[in-house]
Amino acid sequence: MPKAQETTLEIDLNALKHNFEYIKSKLKAHTKVLAVVKAFAYGSDANTVANFLQKLNVDYFAVAYTSEGIALRDAGITTPVLVLHPQAVNFKTLIDRCLEPSLYNAKILNEFISIATETNQTDYPVHIKFNTGLNRLGFRENDVNGIVSKLKDTNRIRVKSIFSHLAASEDLSEASFTKTQINAFDTIAKAFSKKIGYEPMMHLCNTSGILNYPQAHYNMVRTGIGLYGFGNSEKEDKNFKPVATLKSVISQIHHIQKGETVGYNRAFKSEELVRTATIPIGHADGIGRQYGNGKGFVTIEGKAAPIIGNVCMDMIMVDITAIDCKEGDEVILFGKQPTASTFASTTKSISYEIITAISQRVKRCYIGN
Ligand SMILES: *Cc1c(COP(=O)(O)O)cnc(C)c1O
Repeated sequence: MPKAQETTLEIDLNALKHNFEYIKSKLKAHTKVLAVVKAFAYGSDANTVANFLQKLNVDYFAVAYTSEGIALRDAGITTPVLVLHPQAVNFKTLIDRCLEPSLYNAKILNEFISIATETNQTDYPVHIKFNTGLNRLGFRENDVNGIVSKLKDTNRIRVKSIFSHLAASEDLSEASFTKTQINAFDTIAKAFSKKIGYEPMMHLCNTSGILNYPQAHYNMVRTGIGLYGFGNSEKEDKNFKPVATLKSVISQIHHIQKGETVGYNRAFKSEELVRTATIPIGHADGIGRQYGNGKGFVTIEGKAAPIIGNVCMDMIMVDITAIDCKEGDEVILFGKQPTASTFASTTKSISYEIITAISQRVKRCYIGN
């Protein structure tokens, strides 16, 4: 593995392949895989990740917004792309780039039909989203008749899938709630298919749903965090390989005398002689201020060096008093060990948040394949 000479997010494509295959090993042979590559593939660079997964014959991609789908098309992605949360203002471009919208209420359904009509589409693929308990986006069960009568009135669109999203698939103490959601989805989707007279695909599970509720895989599953190396439980984390490693280097070492302070607002006051290292990564790179003042840590020579004082925009200072290291040495923020999940836990955060927070300023590099 190359030693970092500047702050770098290293993306391990072999780990991505391993995670993809591990998820597939949990599925029946005919179950399709949708890879969620929103938010720059959870920070890992959507173009590279999507092109790699396309070569591995992934069935579908999903992004949150239309602009993210456009970026995939620009990068040569020809696999179907579901846009989870499109806004009507982008519908013309969405159609133009062959992206497939999730339609989640009457307003957006009507708006989409009217743009599909205006642009003279026939059977344009759309995905109908139902709310079964997350209470975020989606039609409700009593909307079914209304949607069906709209659909029977037009040949502009055709429902390619019916889907919903679980609220607590990773939390086994909520298993009975999740089972209620699964049953609700099952009932709604089956009634819906019967009424429209054809059978769209059905999908419900995110990564934790895939792992914890094999009875709910239906025709397709949607995996995000699993692809990037996290199983949302101690047991499952062992079966995944973190894809992203955030590395940096020591720019400068200081000896801080008793009574001196470090950083903005003099937030760290030295009570004894300490050795500090300044690292070129800050809150503008995604390491939020909440990691400062002893909460977060970096790893140097395998040892934890706590972040002292306030996180600056472009730098952090860490305590290396107990570590034998020099200027130019490599610094690990997270990766295979410690993982992003461990790193994030110091601020009560989760893997999802820290990996998607690493800003576009941080250089990405790729290993494996
Ligand atoms: C982000 C998202 C996913 C992916 O969830 P993971 O927990 O990362 O696997 C799946 N479905 C929907 C609707 C999402 O918004």
